[in-house]
Amino acid sequence: MTVPKAELHNHLEGTAPPALIATLAARNGIALPTGLIQGDAFGWTGFAGFLQAYDQASTAIRRAEDYRDVTVAYLEACAADGAIYVELAASPDHAAANGLDYPGMVAGIAEGIAAARAATGIEARILITAVRHHGEERVATVARLAAAHPHPLVTGFGLAGDEAHIPASRMAKAFQIATGDAGLGATVHAGEAAGADSVADALTLPVTRIGHGVRAIENDAVLARLIERGTVLEVCPTSNVATGVYPTLDHHPLPRLLEAGVRVTLNSDDPPYFRTSIGHEYTLAASTWGLADKTLTAITRAAVEAAFVDEETRAQLLARIPQPTDG
Ligand SMILES: [Zn+2]
Repeated sequence: MTVPKAELHNHLEGTAPPALIATLAARNGIALPTGLIQGDAFGWTGFAGFLQAYDQASTAIRRAEDYRDVTVAYLEACAADGAIYVELAASPDHAAANGLDYPGMVAGIAEGIAAARAATGIEARILITAVRHHGEERVATVARLAAAHPHPLVTGFGLAGDEAHIPASRMAKAFQIATGDAGLGATVHAGEAAGADSVADALTLPVTRIGHGVRAIENDAVLARLIERGTVLEVCPTSNVATGVYPTLDHHPLPRLLEAGVRVTLNSDDPPYFRTSIGHEYTLAASTWGLADKTLTAITRAAVEAAFVDEETRAQLLARIPQPTDG
């Protein structure tokens, strides 16, 4: 597929394929649990199993050069899929758990972005992700880290973690720091593990995007608010089926969201865990829902319009996407 692609939603630690995790583990002298890597896939069952496998594999990513290598590998794979822009969500809590401080993590990723850009022309930015079940104080601390160490490639702040039990609005302080003091764009996971109420709760925060957000389809008033605000959904179809939000892609609301006029984008989330890629998500959208190249191109344009980049970069990226009138 020749449609240019853009990705706003992934988790950098979760983009590293099994072979790279094995290489990094060997380089760092880390023994990975038996069964974590099964051939060319990660072994896991159920959502708790996925989180455990993710955390176990992430322990192999320990140094700035590991973050660099994971970044280069991912961005080059995305470029090979036809992506022109990718936002990489990195978790300072995962880095800290493995002994790497925030500046070291960001420096490694930034080096990877520069290398991948030089090799392929792909553009990328870094989102700092906090984990809501680590608590309000820790989430605010992560936002303060971003504010205290400004970096030109760190342009966004996001919130992941246990949506079903912890409303995002509880993290208002952190979002105030991230969007105010640190001047970052903001997004939050909502409407994945919990329903439309969780999306409504997330919309009380200064966010322009929602990670997933697909369960907004369960409430017309919430859908209307998304449309009115122009909030962009970072939709991850394969991820939603892999983690059991929907039984199959045929049950997925993406076509209905599009039809309703919600701004949606396509994303891979944690590609090797879900056996997908950004290119595969576009291919699936075409084969499952019959989305034409014109619609897929508009989806890429929506992603670039919602990207956390300076206006000059946005204009350069938009210039790489065919206009609707180009056929
Ligand atoms: Zn996610």
